[in-house]
Amino acid sequence: QSKDNGRNRFTYFTASMQEAAQARMAISNELRRAIDDDQLAVHFQPIIDMASGQIRKAEALVRWLHPARGPVSPVDFIPIAEHTGQIVTIGNWVFRKALAHARRWRRVDRQLTVNVNVSPAQFYHTNGENCRHWLADHSFDTGGGTGPPEVGIEITEGLLLASNSAVMKQLLAFQQAGIKISLDDFGTGYSSLSYLRKFNLDYLKIDKSFVYNLEHDAANVALCEAIIVMAHKLGLEVIAEGVETEQQYDILRRAGCDYGQGFLFGEPLPPDAFEALLHGPPLLTA
Ligand code: C2E
Ligand code: MG
Ligand code: MG
Ligand code: MG
Repeated sequence: QSKDNGRNRFTYFTASMQEAAQARMAISNELRRAIDDDQLAVHFQPIIDMASGQIRKAEALVRWLHPARGPVSPVDFIPIAEHTGQIVTIGNWVFRKALAHARRWRRVDRQLTVNVNVSPAQFYHTNGENCRHWLADHSFDTGGGTGPPEVGIEITEGLLLASNSAVMKQLLAFQQAGIKISLDDFGTGYSSLSYLRKFNLDYLKIDKSFVYNLEHDAANVALCEAIIVMAHKLGLEVIAEGVETEQQYDILRRAGCDYGQGFLFGEPLPPDAFEALLHGPPLLTA
């Protein structure tokens, strides 16, 4: 689902909608070429332990450098790829890249986990094949003294709401392989909360819209604090997205937030630049 899908929601079908449809078709056609022509890349954004300032995880984020358009935001092409089904190819590619890097980085940091975003469409289109394929094709490092698996997955509330037994089985298979599941963009969906009981998730990611302007927004502070208390009581750890200022970091740390991600700690970076961060000092000293 597009993050800005409210924009045209209530307009009638007009020429501009037809143009939008054509633009989507163009993106979809060009995306096919992008996959073949090596225009996609995966960048990695650090996720830090709030208490120590050390990198503990990374989020893998796909990037598209279009030869003519320049960088195209995933916000603009992921929803289209979900609609056309191209997300399955893209998602598998991102997953393999992320896993390969994560394996290499384990030699530098034996704790590091790389989180990969998995679209609901990846669960539906493949009828479980994706998950079985990943688990069979990659002999995961599932502990055995060397730490947790190298990859985790990020899913959104929509997947859990629409959950059927097939999706549940796949999620369970991931978890049985030791793969940790993060609930992404928490608070932006329907948030029925009942699925938090039903699914035994590992991390809850507070959406960046709640972190935005935190130092000047008492309501957002209250929401963040309440989300953190609730998550902890349910046995989940909390990752705050979109941390941009020292004050936001302070407020979240004092509220007991476990992990932070945002421009304050580091932007999404190409693999080599991210690896350099791993060799460096903590990003922030608490
Ligand atoms: P997301 O999974 O919630 O990822 C976090 C987004 O927040 C990323 O946007 C990241 O660059 C951005 N971000 C990180 N720190 C900050 C900050 O301090 N301030 C602000 N304003 N933004 C910050 P990005 O890379 O544009 O990705 C947007 C969305 O596209 C992602 O949201 C995710 O839903 C989707 N996406 C990206 N890569 C993939 C992928 O490989 N597969 C799938 N299925 N979806 C992806
Ligand atoms: Mg994510
Ligand atoms: Mg998110
Ligand atoms: Mg988000």
